[in-house]
Amino acid sequence: MTQTSITRSWVASANGHADFPLQNLPLGVFSVKGGAPRSGVAIGDHIFDLGAALDAGLFDDGAARTAVEATRGGQLNAFFELGREARVALRERLIELFKEGSTLHGKIEAQGAKLLPLAADCQMHLPAKINDYTDFYVGIEHAQNVGKLFRPDNPLLPNYKYVPIGYHGRASTIRPSGTDVRRPKGQTLPAGQTEPTFGPCARLDYELELGIWIGQGNAMGDSIAIGDAADHIAGFCLLNDWSARDIQAWEYQPLGPFLSKSFITSISPWVVTAEALEPFRRAQPARPEGDPQPLPYLFDKRDQAAGAFDIELEVLLLTESMREQNLPAHRLTLSNTQHMYWTVAQMVAHHSVNGCQLQAGDLFGSGTLSGPESGQFGSLLEITEGGKKPIELASGEVRKFLEDGDEIILRARCSREGFASIGFGECRGKVLPAR
Ligand code: MN
Repeated sequence: MTQTSITRSWVASANGHADFPLQNLPLGVFSVKGGAPRSGVAIGDHIFDLGAALDAGLFDDGAARTAVEATRGGQLNAFFELGREARVALRERLIELFKEGSTLHGKIEAQGAKLLPLAADCQMHLPAKINDYTDFYVGIEHAQNVGKLFRPDNPLLPNYKYVPIGYHGRASTIRPSGTDVRRPKGQTLPAGQTEPTFGPCARLDYELELGIWIGQGNAMGDSIAIGDAADHIAGFCLLNDWSARDIQAWEYQPLGPFLSKSFITSISPWVVTAEALEPFRRAQPARPEGDPQPLPYLFDKRDQAAGAFDIELEVLLLTESMREQNLPAHRLTLSNTQHMYWTVAQMVAHHSVNGCQLQAGDLFGSGTLSGPESGQFGSLLEITEGGKKPIELASGEVRKFLEDGDEIILRARCSREGFASIGFGECRGKVLPAR
């Protein structure tokens, strides 16, 4: 069933919904007022409770098998493990259930909030148990912008165009959208000093990233071939890699970021599937003249032809004063996933090429996805050039980095002529004072 042939749902709020029309159907884990976490699917302003739907006998064989795995233990790890065919079986059944004219419309609606609670009445949780988290650095514009701040003549190091650069992050402090961000404390080296001081971070920043959920993993010692890599991805989310730039600058050499990143990483709670993103796939942008070709283990014709995505990414800032004055959020960034130098499949192939085991529920961050122009930068480090050029807000305030009370909101949207637009939902976090 193509996306164009289905346009409307009997769930009225789904039609034209900014994020969750019938064509999206992302999975997530939610709870209703104090209840246990349950698996669900976002549709319009509602969440379809997969466990309750199983109990009501709403799934046929293939979809039922998938839904059983998706509802195991209040997390989606077993669902991630299933792969494409099982995801498609569930997706096609969900479309049958929710399309306009569905014969089961009455049966579902009769059960009301038991099957379809309002999302506004639910709390979202992490969708899976995350065993490992890896943050890449594939946003080439960000790598160049940041490199320029430190090495004006030589912004990109020589490995960048050969290796999808990454580091092992911290899984224990990944939290869903809406979790407050406690300002971290740590060692920093004040300008002009030779010895560090200890205290609250003074240069707190955000990083706009795409999150990638790993599906089927690999055995230790095996690797995932580039041609198979897309089949090992279960879905996508938004990711804010909160960064303490002053702590980072002092600690990062020679092994990379450590405490400057591990205090919290925020993600949007809905897992947008590869199937929902199918119409928004693009060819990987051609490498500029003179760039090396990827090594064979990173090169696949099909991946080059359709392994990139056209996802518009947005970052908004809302300060305490703006909230008090009822001012709209200030847009800091409007960017796109097409600024990735490496595809998500190349990240998977590279991560496992040495025999490293990937597991269902592992999470990758893409790295900050900046565009080349001002207005497209995915961090304050780039926007303010390391604090040299403060931004002015409608509230009369200025910002070099984030202040206590500031809230950062990430959003994403996919649009294409002739197709329903879909979104990712929000990834929000508000900064609290250091403790
Ligand atoms: Mn990052």
